[in-house]
Amino acid sequence: MNNAESLRSYWMPFTANAKFAAAPRLFSSAEGMFYTTTDGRPILDAIAGLWCVNAGHGRREITDAIKTAAETLDFVSSFQMGHPAAFELCRRLSEKAPEGKGHVFLSNSGSEAVDTALKIARGYHRSRGEPSRTRFVGRARAYHGMGWAGLSVGGIGRHRRDFEPLLPQVSHMRHPYDPQKSGFSRGLPEWGADFANDLENVLAVHDPTTVAAVIVEPVAGSTGVFAPPRGYLERLRQICDKHGILLIFDEVITGFGRLGSTFAAKRFGVTPDIITCAKGLSNGAAPIGATIARPFIYDTWMNGARDAIEFSHGYTYSGHPLSCAAALATMDVFDKEDLWTRGLGIEQMFEDAAHDLADRNCVRDVRNIGLLAAIDLEPEPGKPGVRAQQVNAACFEAGVLIRTTGDTLMISPPIVAEPAQIDRIFSTLRNAIGTIA
Ligand code: PMP
Repeated sequence: MNNAESLRSYWMPFTANAKFAAAPRLFSSAEGMFYTTTDGRPILDAIAGLWCVNAGHGRREITDAIKTAAETLDFVSSFQMGHPAAFELCRRLSEKAPEGKGHVFLSNSGSEAVDTALKIARGYHRSRGEPSRTRFVGRARAYHGMGWAGLSVGGIGRHRRDFEPLLPQVSHMRHPYDPQKSGFSRGLPEWGADFANDLENVLAVHDPTTVAAVIVEPVAGSTGVFAPPRGYLERLRQICDKHGILLIFDEVITGFGRLGSTFAAKRFGVTPDIITCAKGLSNGAAPIGATIARPFIYDTWMNGARDAIEFSHGYTYSGHPLSCAAALATMDVFDKEDLWTRGLGIEQMFEDAAHDLADRNCVRDVRNIGLLAAIDLEPEPGKPGVRAQQVNAACFEAGVLIRTTGDTLMISPPIVAEPAQIDRIFSTLRNAIGTIA
């Protein structure tokens, strides 16, 4: 394959196409913890694809279920009709919600699950007869997908810049992180809970009766693994309750066993009003997203003050038979192998292995929780991001796939990882970091 030629047609997401043409990473297959490149090299997947292949690659239970679905019912609309697997999936997902109940809206991605959550929040307030509640509150360093609404509540400048103006009536809280005060934290940082009072500051400027919802990732994932300070989420919950504001947890990364629990909400003991999930939901094998609302939201909507109680929202592929089959089979695998909590058993050794890197030259911070870890490197003067790219390349050369953002290295292996594989990931990282500076 002539790569430069192929790239004339394939405009790749989040990829500097020209650079990719010079050093392509192309994969032909995947099994268990490993990818195989088109030139036959096994690559240990230290990032679960993109935080999604939690049960490991090529799970027969899942691929067989997709195959059967494709051969039986290739497509049926979910607008005023459906198929049994979609109902079964929503029932089982709602049982996994923190209260063991909820109402599930299906979509195809994390971005769609987030947009759906924000729409549910506004519609809920309208149903209650409080249409003035339209404002959303997000947070710096947040990633909520690439839909216009997710981008608007998200907090990453470089993602937003080219596309502004975004959704109006969005405020942002600061992110509760300071490397001086909460650097090298293991699990929940002890410092920073007071940052939740940023929400009060927003409400001092904007009348609380204009605020529909607050959205946060319980652990900021793709921007560099920032666990919530102890007490922070509880405080956000309190403030939301006080002012009648809905709290949304975006659990696209943190759900499905990544933190050793069904959802981060369960691990942290804080119940949001709406949860979004995707990625691990189908083990990455088919596109699917889900938005889970607490019963009172659904009940209000169904008995609401508006003339039309229909949720005028949905996607052609909402509840797609192949995706539902993949998600049901994924949940079977999770139940059978107890992947919901498996991460807890290896979290300590994962944490120790990550923090062992703290003594390396130019490591500025190490953070971890569940099976998520981030290592910040001191940027090379005048060349931000270059060091992390060098480490990334050295790891790949040594047969380990990691992820980088800016000068942060990120690790999030499949939950089925064996301790020896975790050792290999971090020893490869150690060597790779040793090759720079
Ligand atoms: N929310 C969070 C927290 C995410 O991490 C992501 C994806 N990394 C998304 C939303 C968007 O998901 P998708 O790429 O499936 O649209």
